[in-house]
Amino acid sequence: MNIRIGQGIDFHRLEKGLKLHVGGVEIPSVRGCVAHSDGDVLLHAICDAILGAASLDDIGHQFPDNDPQYRDIDSKILLERSYDLIRKKGFSIVNIDSTICLEEPKMAPYISEMKERISSILEVSAENIGIKATTAEKLGFIGKEEGVVAISVALLQKT
Ligand SMILES: [Zn+2]
Repeated sequence: MNIRIGQGIDFHRLEKGLKLHVGGVEIPSVRGCVAHSDGDVLLHAICDAILGAASLDDIGHQFPDNDPQYRDIDSKILLERSYDLIRKKGFSIVNIDSTICLEEPKMAPYISEMKERISSILEVSAENIGIKATTAEKLGFIGKEEGVVAISVALLQKT
């Protein structure tokens, strides 16, 4: 069997006055993610999807949030390192699909830039990266702008 599927999910608390990084792009926003790293919820979900597909330990084990070397780290570096780990096991990426769930701000203007950033890190065409965004219709912690969630699935092939 030369293809493997993986999934990842990530949550972050939102607070006013923090920077919001999603998909490797800094997005103007009233609120940003509380995190040890730059809090890029989408990149963290993608890391876990590709690591999971390769049966590797999750992002929290690979890059512990109590390790000072990861403080405020750019999550693009975590994605690069996750990709290195799956390549060492002989995998490449077929495609990735993801959904970001947050109330504000609108993600649509930034999605093509996110795809380009992720594409360049993971050596996969932007055409093979899906990124959607949805609100929670004002329901629950997402609707109240207390937090954000991203979900990702990845298909890998043994090369
Ligand atoms: Zn995270």
